[in-house]
Amino acid sequence: MLANIWILSEKAENLPELCAGARQYGQKVSAVVIGSAADAEQASGAGPDQVYYWPRGATDLFEDFTAPVSALLLAEQPDALFVRDSRRARALAGRIAARMGTAIMANLESCALVEGKLLVEALMFGGAAVRAQKATGLAMLMIGGGFFAAEAAGGKAPVAVQESKPVSSGATLVERRQVETEKVNLGAAKQVVGVGRGLARQDDLALIGDLARALGAEIGCTRPVAEGENWMAKERYIGVTGAMIKPDVYWAFGVSGQVQHMVGVAGARVIVAVNKDKNAPIFKQCDYGLIGDLYKVAPALTNILQKS
Ligand SMILES: Cc1cc2nc3c(=O)[nH]c(=O)nc-3n(C[C@H](O)[C@H](O)[C@H](O)COP(=O)(O)OP(=O)(O)OC[C@H]3O[C@@H](n4cnc5c(N)ncnc54)[C@H](O)[C@@H]3O)c2cc1C
Repeated sequence: MLANIWILSEKAENLPELCAGARQYGQKVSAVVIGSAADAEQASGAGPDQVYYWPRGATDLFEDFTAPVSALLLAEQPDALFVRDSRRARALAGRIAARMGTAIMANLESCALVEGKLLVEALMFGGAAVRAQKATGLAMLMIGGGFFAAEAAGGKAPVAVQESKPVSSGATLVERRQVETEKVNLGAAKQVVGVGRGLARQDDLALIGDLARALGAEIGCTRPVAEGENWMAKERYIGVTGAMIKPDVYWAFGVSGQVQHMVGVAGARVIVAVNKDKNAPIFKQCDYGLIGDLYKVAPALTNILQKS
């Protein structure tokens, strides 16, 4: 086991996952919190042994905490820093890695402790290849949602409020606007219905919603549905740059099966695919495949489930 692993997340609500993952490899887990007192309180109950807390002022950027966090890392010398992947966390982690003279390991497929070192398999070239990487110095891992499963934690860890101040990264906060986000935990769902560009219109998501309700499933999607079409929240897209899921069943409707998406569903016990193209790559990666039009199959399945 490693002696000490630090965990860091932009949102305190994601710390239980990170903490449970860090516990698999580290004897001691310390959480870094940059945020409000409520975030520190939430982190304290997420399962770590201690919390380092930097209060974040209204105009402080997340990455402005590079210098203070790096200074404490240098002083404490943990073996690893697990960072929950998000845009702001990437901005901070990249700067910390540069200061610490280490590299970030991202787009992870797997992680293991081998001969006292963290060994990861990471996707590269947009998922076309897998690279095995072993950390030598500080191991910095970007962890996607659902990569680790949260576990129930008891007790409260002590919170050490840090006096060191943020240092402006050069960017200035001009305005803050609320982005609409959805609270969805695809990583914990037992069944997920995933929809791809086979869907012709946003309104047709109702078909998938009806089926998901009948199955008691969560709804996910491919990246183009969330980021190109903006039909669903970004939290719902699955894959190498999105959520990693481990449901009992993943139902893929109108999903072609590109590697960047399929990496995110590799942990599913059963994959069922519906696609109208018999040559779609997903048919080589699923357990059950149905060549058909999702506009016919989804309502028919919903109908059967509702009657049963
Ligand atoms: C660096 C990088 C990272 C990426 N990361 C991700 C990621 O994390 N997640 C992700 O999902 N993608 C990711 N992508 C994009 C990925 O490469 C694919 O473009 C994407 O997954 C394809 O989405 P799709 O299957 O919805 O669309 P398409 O590939 O367009 O497939 C649509 C499918 O729907 C079928 N279809 C059409 N009409 C119907 C119908 N009526 N009934 C049934 N089937 C129908 C078609 O036959 C087709 O197979 C990434 C790409 C890059 C370069």
